[in-house]
Amino acid sequence: MAALPRIALIGMHLESNSFAPPTTEADFRRLCYLEGEAIVVEAAKAAPAMPLEVPGFVDELAHLSFAWEPVPILVTGAEPGGPVEHGFFEDCLRRIVDGLKAAGGIDAVYLTNHGAMTSTAEFDPDGVLYAAIRACIGQVPFVASVDLHANISNRMIDSVDAFVSYRTNPHVDQRERGAECARHVVELLRGGRSATALVRLPLTPASVTLLTATGPYADLMDEAEARMDADARLMNLSVVGGFVFSDTPKNGVAIVATSRESATHARAAALDLARRAWAGRERFVRTLTPISEAVALARAAATGERPPVIFADSGDNPGGGGRGNTTELLRALLAAGATGVLYGNFVDPALAADAHSRGVGARFDAEFNRTGSDRFGERFAVPARVLSVTDGRVVGQRGIYSGRSVELGPTAALDLGGIVVVVASERKQCADPVFFTMHGLDVAQATTVVVKSRGHFRAGFDLHFRPENVFEIDTGGLTAPVLERIEFRHLPRPAFPLDRSAAWDAA
Ligand SMILES: [Zn+2]
Repeated sequence: MAALPRIALIGMHLESNSFAPPTTEADFRRLCYLEGEAIVVEAAKAAPAMPLEVPGFVDELAHLSFAWEPVPILVTGAEPGGPVEHGFFEDCLRRIVDGLKAAGGIDAVYLTNHGAMTSTAEFDPDGVLYAAIRACIGQVPFVASVDLHANISNRMIDSVDAFVSYRTNPHVDQRERGAECARHVVELLRGGRSATALVRLPLTPASVTLLTATGPYADLMDEAEARMDADARLMNLSVVGGFVFSDTPKNGVAIVATSRESATHARAAALDLARRAWAGRERFVRTLTPISEAVALARAAATGERPPVIFADSGDNPGGGGRGNTTELLRALLAAGATGVLYGNFVDPALAADAHSRGVGARFDAEFNRTGSDRFGERFAVPARVLSVTDGRVVGQRGIYSGRSVELGPTAALDLGGIVVVVASERKQCADPVFFTMHGLDVAQATTVVVKSRGHFRAGFDLHFRPENVFEIDTGGLTAPVLERIEFRHLPRPAFPLDRSAAWDAA
């Protein structure tokens, strides 16, 4: 009997905001750090605590009745944050390379990355990893997938046989993309051919313009799908929006094509879609709602003059490296005497612990950011009552956390009088109503909901808020979408929309 094909499973997920503090080994170990068999075990669980591409990949091979031998090496990931500490990245790289060498006789590799990782010493650690894997495995099939907020280097695309990025933002297609990669691996193992091409544009949009339900990015996604449907030679056509806050020389919207025919065909397909993206670049300019207007909207919602509203505290999205501790919008709503407001999640472990020790019903002066103000997270105190406390363990119910085990650490709901704030210990974006309902808070009863999230909350709160009642508020912080206010140092310039006169020559 012939030996089963041996497919290595590798993953390293980090979205790096270069303006945020470094991401440490502890940050990875706290969220997901799995080696060897533990990867396969976790992937088989009902609510895996790992990037869902991995169970998506594994399940699809089972669905295809494809007999294989997993070679699980390392799958790790941290919440979006600053650049990874380079020593830890090197440690992971060594484990992956050593793991591949020790396994020997690998027949294919599936790699899942976020794709916007930087390290404290390297702009393109993802590319370093891709190239190292290729150097180890020789000419066997190597398929990789990334988030659509990835920043793509030539080194990444030159290293792989097929490349796939998410197609949904909010991200709800991780399992599907993992499954797609499984099908590509099978095709390549059965002798299929492929070639890849990358075209990167001097276009570095803010994340608020990269939604896939409507808008310029959605239209590009639809176009890519239509082209894949129409051209059987295309194995994949990805439109990678990028993550501007990584601030690297490889930033820029990237079109990546994988062709079953030739490199020429891949290049032509990528170029053609890139031309379309560039022609529509003006649509990537976005305006936000000023805080004063948000306060007026909250008041109108509270008095019933308009339907309830949901606000994205867009400058402080923990899902983009924000600390979850800015107070600008909260203080504005408090000062205006806003009522009917649910606000989540404010990340402040010291305040959560304080509330836990005082207990439900206790009244006290809640001191936010007591462990030290930073540039955006100012210290302030306000009278509060503890409504509820939890251990922060929950399974997501809707949107990006759906079916995933999530740990918020000790959490507390504090009633500030008219505004109820959920305080959490772990840094996560508030993208699922469960973060409120776990405290017995009813989202349907609130007239204003404020979330520290940028876009992913849309998939969680869609049942409560129609798109016209969603507002992105112009708040300061590490993820403030008004790019002109950010001191970028390494982005390729000129780049649109920062430089309105940026030019691109398809030749
Ligand atoms: Zn993303």
